[in-house]
Parts: sequence; C-alpha cells; structure tokens
Amino acid sequence: MRTRSDAAQRYTPPDAAAALAEQQLADLKATLHEMRERQPQAESLSRSQTDREIIAARRSGRAKKISVIVPVYNEEDNIDPLFKALFSVLSRLTADFEIIAVNDGSTDHSYERLSAFAGQHPEVKVVNFRRNFGQTAAIMAGIDYSSGDILVFIDSDLQNDPDDIPVLLDKLNEGYDVVSGWRKDRKDAAIRRSFVSRTANRLISWVSGVHLRDYGCTLKAYRAGVIRDIRLYGEMHRFIPIYATWMGAKVTEIPVRHHERRFGRSKYGLERTIKVLLDLIVIKFLDKYFAKPIYIFGGFGILSILVSLGAVGLMMYWKLFEGVSMILTPLPLFAAMTFLVGAMSILMGLLAEMIVRTYFESQRRGPYEVRNVLNR
Ligand code: UDP
Ligand code: MG
Repeated sequence: MRTRSDAAQRYTPPDAAAALAEQQLADLKATLHEMRERQPQAESLSRSQTDREIIAARRSGRAKKISVIVPVYNEEDNIDPLFKALFSVLSRLTADFEIIAVNDGSTDHSYERLSAFAGQHPEVKVVNFRRNFGQTAAIMAGIDYSSGDILVFIDSDLQNDPDDIPVLLDKLNEGYDVVSGWRKDRKDAAIRRSFVSRTANRLISWVSGVHLRDYGCTLKAYRAGVIRDIRLYGEMHRFIPIYATWMGAKVTEIPVRHHERRFGRSKYGLERTIKVLLDLIVIKFLDKYFAKPIYIFGGFGILSILVSLGAVGLMMYWKLFEGVSMILTPLPLFAAMTFLVGAMSILMGLLAEMIVRTYFESQRRGPYEVRNVLNR
C-alpha cells in the first residue's frame, strides 16, 4: 500500500524538476552534436546514391524508411536464408528499414521461424493470417501494416534476389514512383516462362496501356504514396503498377536476377493464367466504368433495344411490301429477345449504380482477417 511518506519521497520540488529538465536537454544536445560529428564518416562509407540521398534527407529532417514486404506460404526452409540475406543487404543501407512478413496461413513451421526472427529483431513485423487468403491478400496486408516511405515487395522463396533491392532503390531515386523487376532470365518450368506467360504479359500491357514486360515478378519498389489506399482482390497484386499509373505515378522496369526454387514448391499452376485474364477484364471495367456502371450496362441495353427495333422494322417491311408472313421468319423471337435483354441490361445498370454508391459510402473492409501481429 502506498503511504503518505512514499508520496512525500517521490515529490520533487519545482526548482529541482527544472534543473533535471535542463540537464536532460543538455545531454540531448551533446548526443546530437556527437551524431553530427559522425555524419561525414557515414558518408564516406556510403555505397550508392540512395545512401547519400538518405543521409541528406535525414539531415534535413526528412528521413526515409524502407518497408520490405514478404508474403510467406509454406516456405519454412527458405526463411532463414532469406532473412539473413535481407538483413545483410538492408543494414548496408543507411536508411531505416522494417521487414513485414505476412504468414498466409502456412501449415508448416514458417510461423515459428518468423516469430523467432521477430523475437530477435524489432525491425521484423509478422502479420499472421487465420488461414490461407492468397498472395494478393498477403501483399495487401503488408501494405496496410507498413510504415515506410518506400515499399519493396519480394517473394519469400529466394527466387528473387535481395541483392537487387539497392538497384531498385537507386532507380527509384532517379525520380520514379514505381520500379518493377523484370525476370529477364526466368528460372521456372519452361511452360510457365514461355508462350503462355509472354502472351499474358503482352495482353495485359495492351489492354491496360501500361507497358511492362513482366507483371508477375513480385520484386518491385514503390513510393508509398502511390499505393497507400489501394484495395486488391483475386490475383490483382500484379496489376498494382497499373493502379499506380492511374494515380499518376511514373513507372519503369529494370532487369532483375531470378533463381531456381531450392526449397518448397510453387503454389501455382497454369490455371492461374485464366484467373489473371479474368482479373484483367475486371481491371479494365473498373478503370473505365467503376464510378459509372450505367454507361456500360445502359450502353449495351440501348444497343440491344435498337437491334430489336431494327428487327421489328424489317419484319414490317417484309410483311407490307413483300407479303412475307411474320411467323415465317425468326424475327419476332429475335426482336422480343433483344428487347428483353436490352431492358434487363439497363435495369441491371441501375442496380449497379446503387451498389457502387453503397460501396463508396460504406466503410471499407479488407479482404483478409488477421490473427495477430508481432512487433506492430
Ligand atoms: N504465396 C503466398 N500465398 C499463396 C501463394 C503464394 O503468400 O497462397 C507466396 C509464396 O510463399 C511466395 C510467393 O507468394 O513467397 C510466390 O509464390 P510461388 O513461388 O509459389 O509463385 P511462383 O514463383 O511459382 O510464381
Ligand atoms: Mg516462386
């Protein structure tokens, strides 16, 4: 129990408190001075332009922080070598950094390995999903839990090379908002790097108007501002540069290394291509018509009704001038069908308008559920 004399002992007279505060201030100034003295040394050690810029930014009070985001799904044997490589690369940069590992419902020992690292290093955050929600959801969570000014994404299977991170950062510092990795010499099964993937990449590039050669490469660097509020579903993480371009970002692509998978298995098969293509349709639709769905539904509806009216006109013409009975042609059925489809489509457009309004006005919910977060 706390007694009166306890309280009396804790009491510091105002003069003494002021003296203490002054002492602390003096200590702080001394530390600051010492740090300034050390700065030139740090500069001579710096390896790249990025480092120098970061030092300059720190001096002017605009310190940059780099968040490295890794999606993890059953990669137990890759985690130790990956984190060692990441730490060795990131600690050479003078920027602050954090590593956000998102455990996407792994059923092996990935989570234990990650939590061991999180226990030793406060820079490592672990976001642990309740179940497997997919790579896109994992990347989305990584963005949500990050606090950096620059976000770097990298696979946890060591197929991407952590040594490429400084190269991406240098490129970013040339004035880009997004630097995307291009697996020029891709080390995956032949079928996946060949025709299918190349065609898919060309198609995405053509449909979106954003010209990248390799959308599928996870290794990318972004300025946080261009993707902070992004919402991703399905297989859409590969389309982030497209979103970013819509936000007015400057996007570029550079070749990066790619290695064969040493541990664990790839989580995807060729069926992913179909999902990606369907997502591409969604993306295109969202780009053009998300805010005004009535334009596409209504446009189609009006076209369909015009076709219906044309069919009726043709029917009447044949009946009146050529004496062909209406029921001898398929036109009545055709006219009725196109009219119905048209009317339904316009009504669906109105429904979609209502949905879009609900979407915009309701509070947004993420596509994942987090069990816990280490070192938040
Ligand atoms: N991944 C994930 N959730 C999934 C599937 C994959 O977090 O449902 C992660 C996986 O751990 C890896 C990255 O996404 O770090 C890429 O997966 P994978 O290597 O299987 O894809 P590939 O390189 O074969 O295209
Ligand atoms: Mg891989």
